[in-house]
Amino acid sequence: MTVAVVGGGPAGMAAAISAKKAGALKVVLIERAERLGGVLPQCIHSGFGLSYFGQDLTGPEFAELLGREVEAIGVEVWLQSMVTEAYPDRSLLISRAEGISLLKPDAVIFAVGARERPRGAIAIPGSRPAGIYTAGTAQYMTNIQGYEVGKRIFILGSGDIGLIMARRFTLEGAKVEAVAELMPFPGGLSRNVQQCLKDFGIPLLLSHSVIEVMGRERVEAVKVAKIENGMPVAGTEKVYEVDTLVLSVGLLPEVELLRQMGLTILPYTNSVTVNQFFETEIPHVYVVGNGAGIWDLVDHVVVSASTAGAASVANWGVERSEAFVEPCRDVRLVIPQRILLGADEPPVLWFRAGKPLSVSKVTLLRGTEVLASRGYLSLRPAEMATFPLRKEHYEKLKPGDRLTLCVSEVGSDA
Ligand SMILES: Cc1cc2nc3c(=O)[nH]c(=O)nc-3n(C[C@H](O)[C@H](O)[C@H](O)COP(=O)(O)OP(=O)(O)OC[C@H]3O[C@@H](n4cnc5c(N)ncnc54)[C@H](O)[C@@H]3O)c2cc1C
Repeated sequence: MTVAVVGGGPAGMAAAISAKKAGALKVVLIERAERLGGVLPQCIHSGFGLSYFGQDLTGPEFAELLGREVEAIGVEVWLQSMVTEAYPDRSLLISRAEGISLLKPDAVIFAVGARERPRGAIAIPGSRPAGIYTAGTAQYMTNIQGYEVGKRIFILGSGDIGLIMARRFTLEGAKVEAVAELMPFPGGLSRNVQQCLKDFGIPLLLSHSVIEVMGRERVEAVKVAKIENGMPVAGTEKVYEVDTLVLSVGLLPEVELLRQMGLTILPYTNSVTVNQFFETEIPHVYVVGNGAGIWDLVDHVVVSASTAGAASVANWGVERSEAFVEPCRDVRLVIPQRILLGADEPPVLWFRAGKPLSVSKVTLLRGTEVLASRGYLSLRPAEMATFPLRKEHYEKLKPGDRLTLCVSEVGSDA
């Protein structure tokens, strides 16, 4: 059989390797860029691979290790090849240097990553001067192209990319005035808050946002205020004289090709529904990595993509009934949303809490019946957590069951 993997980032490479290991005769890895790695080559900081490779690697090192495996195992790599159209029968239209190709593999795995939420999505009033960048673009310009994006910088949003860039700009000699975060808690991992802000004395303004950008040709200042109930609090405004505003306000899964195939996009993951093998509602079509929902760590991305790669071969021709899972209050997202019944191994549910919680109980409910529950010492929205289902609980599931994954802080009535 032939498996096509669209996107040669860490998710695509891991899926391709595992499909090949599982026995696929031909695996084609299709990447639009001139090299494999996805966003990893621009992430020159360490912190990658701690659980997957058991080493503290930089992004380029992590990509290099996976790339070597892709080559060694005999995956066919098509670089500078972009999938421009995808059809429900799994046909792919690919634009290549040689011309247009049409491929109809037995299984397709989409590993197309995510795009950054742009400024328009957060509607900051003010003119449209130069000097406003998304964090990933600023990272690409700094680490790959060697440009200085600004000398005095304000960062809006405390997602991991923004935190990492706050430290990077500082190391490059720029002054990062502060990072503002709309929520009352940081958007990124605790280790990044410590290592990228606190260690460098960069203030983190929680429940704050940029309410105006000033400057005509180039950013000259930003006005920042405390936000309560979605509105600026009068009297809390402060103007920061900066030449650059960097936005780190989230990633959105890349779903255009999935949409073209007729798949429905879920509002809370901004992607399509998948089962525990990351298979979409179209049989033999999979979606993994940041394209399936935004993951925190590349190690998680790789583990989940490997599941899909192996399943694309092992599940070939297997039809099974399903149960369905939804997040309830205080759970931001759950992956998978569909559970195939009768698989050899019980599934793992990946979820994110909607707000920081200390000692908590997570419960899987069928109506009001508790099917399974587990305790957690702490849960953070920035961190993907796992809820492995035990075999005896998995075996209780019936076709068409509607389940909810709920969380409550121990000691609260929620
Ligand atoms: C700035 C930044 C810092 C990060 N820091 C860390 C960290 O410290 N530690 C950590 O563990 N994780 C970190 N991450 C997260 C990690 O990089 C991501 O989880 C991971 O890269 C997601 O992998 P992916 O393969 O899903 O997507 P990507 O890496 O985005 O790869 C997607 C690939 O698909 C290709 N593609 C898209 N559409 C098409 C198409 N139509 N045809 C062909 N190819 C296509 C793209 O060119 C790209 O190569 C960071 C991420 C960012 C953005």
